[in-house]
Amino acid sequence: MSDPTSPQNFPEDEYLSAEEIKTMWDILEQQLQEILSESREDLQYFTEQREVDPDELDLAVTESNRDFALRLADRERRLLRKIKNAMTRIQNGEYGTCESCGAAISFARLMARPVATQCIDCKTEMEQLERPKRAFIQ
Ligand SMILES: [Zn+2]
Repeated sequence: MSDPTSPQNFPEDEYLSAEEIKTMWDILEQQLQEILSESREDLQYFTEQREVDPDELDLAVTESNRDFALRLADRERRLLRKIKNAMTRIQNGEYGTCESCGAAISFARLMARPVATQCIDCKTEMEQLERPKRAFIQ
């Protein structure tokens, strides 16, 4: 039986070689594992904190720690979603293709930013649109 999560069974990417796809898959998988294990450690840390800090003063600290943990978890969740999205794009054979214009996303760009979904031209254009207007005046 062919395993759909194994890189040799992925459809051919329009722009990237099988070798490059395999490299990117390994990087994404490693990042995924890192986030998952970090999240688990955070959760454990903050659970322990709560158990040893019963008085009011420390409770405030614990509460702000908890806020921090939640914010961190939120950021991790977002990154996790991006990584999973990138892996799905690999499985669909569209990983090396820019979402906006259909051009190639260079392998060098993907190595620097494995979750990139746009080529450098589209990304630059989008950042210019997103930048606050006063940045142009300054
Ligand atoms: Zn593009």
